[in-house]
Amino acid sequence: MSATLFDKSRPGRPGYRLPAGAPPAAPRLDAAKRRRGPVGLPALSELDVMRHFVALSKLNHSIVSGFYPLGSCTMKYNPVLNEELARLPGFAASHPDQCAQTVQGNLELMWRLEEALKAITGFAAATLQPAAGAQGEFVGMRIARRWHEDHGAARREVLIPDSAHGTNPASVVMAGLGVRTVPSDARGLVDLAALAAAVGPDTAAVMLTNPNTLGLFETDILRIAELVHGAGALLYMDGANMNALVGRVRPAELGFDVMHLNLHKTFATPHGGGGPGSGPVAVTAALADYLPGLRVRRDGERFTASRAPRSIGDVHGRHGNFAMLVRALAYILRYGGDGLADISAGAVLNANYLQARLRDLVEVPHDGLCMHEFVASGRPLKKHGVRTLDVAKRLLDFGIHAPTVYFPLIVPEALMIEPTETETKESLDRFVDAMAQIVREAETDPELLRTAPHTTPVGRLDEARAAKELRVVQPPAEG
Ligand SMILES: *Cc1c(COP(=O)(O)O)cnc(C)c1O
Repeated sequence: MSATLFDKSRPGRPGYRLPAGAPPAAPRLDAAKRRRGPVGLPALSELDVMRHFVALSKLNHSIVSGFYPLGSCTMKYNPVLNEELARLPGFAASHPDQCAQTVQGNLELMWRLEEALKAITGFAAATLQPAAGAQGEFVGMRIARRWHEDHGAARREVLIPDSAHGTNPASVVMAGLGVRTVPSDARGLVDLAALAAAVGPDTAAVMLTNPNTLGLFETDILRIAELVHGAGALLYMDGANMNALVGRVRPAELGFDVMHLNLHKTFATPHGGGGPGSGPVAVTAALADYLPGLRVRRDGERFTASRAPRSIGDVHGRHGNFAMLVRALAYILRYGGDGLADISAGAVLNANYLQARLRDLVEVPHDGLCMHEFVASGRPLKKHGVRTLDVAKRLLDFGIHAPTVYFPLIVPEALMIEPTETETKESLDRFVDAMAQIVREAETDPELLRTAPHTTPVGRLDEARAAKELRVVQPPAEG
């Protein structure tokens, strides 16, 4: 970090002067484009403005307004304390270009977070730069690609199970590699024989989600790691599902070489609405030199930041989404190792409780002990002409956000349910009661479900069109 905040030779710094003879910084606006009168802002009282925005906020559903069992995406409770800490002026008002001496505390925070993530995952090093899980996957694939190039072979193929999250194949393709899909077996786990047949001299990496998106732990993982390494490939873990493992299982010890974490799913930083997120990538010592971004190092009492020698390059500005890092470390320190292990246990307990209570209401195709989530199927309701989408829409009338639906693709009419560990038994029971009522309605009044929701600010939308022709402002009334 050579540039200082007060370096007067750099544009934008205090005291910066244009060099003599330089063209003016911005061309003057021509007269026709200049404003001639007042802007015409509406004159409103503070109270009216407040009411307007509070009313708008009430149109939205969030984790603070009701249960939010969104499988795979983990709508975690975000402690208010985290928000206060992220807003401390020393964090919030610092500039990413500030010289290292003036931001020692911020660097120490990142160093401590990296140490914590290393302890949690068992890996040797981590980058905090990626802004999302998908960006972490991309980083992992670029590292795998570069690592093989450095070791004499330009391997080009990545194997991914058919239960994987859609970002997995997308990240592989963005990294310039090819995807080959591996089927799941009747248990819902990776088909070991199919994997053994597919892995070969062109396999750069195998990308696994563990527990997988059915909420099932890949029990053959040690054998899989042996197979993958035997073929000279790397084993990548999509760690977006760490909520069942934190404090209990270190992925490095399962044989993985590289993984990403989703701080916005596992370590209580807010998400939804497009970000900002944070998807740190952790690696074995052999891959540490390839990590992207600025790596913070401790040198006695001093902290410095520099790039790794074989770095794949930057994937985000400077240190990534720093305020997310503040929240994640606050969460980790507040609970500590044993507390985090308790959280994982709570996540698994809540999911198994719901699975046990919903088993007879809807179908659970891959039944048995689940991890932090499970996948049910709305298939039994089809005989009433009701689909999973209708169940999801009807849940909104009960003040409950819909679970993830139609994913993973290998379960027809999928309802992917993840009750966060902070939910009480009472709120889980209310969800079961709502599901029981919906199943009764499917038998007695299926039209009620097909036209749901009935109590939300907007009714059933053509979702594809609503996404493509987004209109967030009410058109003015006609006439
Ligand atoms: C959410 C998720 C991702 C992608 O993470 P983003 O931060 O949304 O990019 C990848 N894999 C799984 C299993 C996920 O649940």
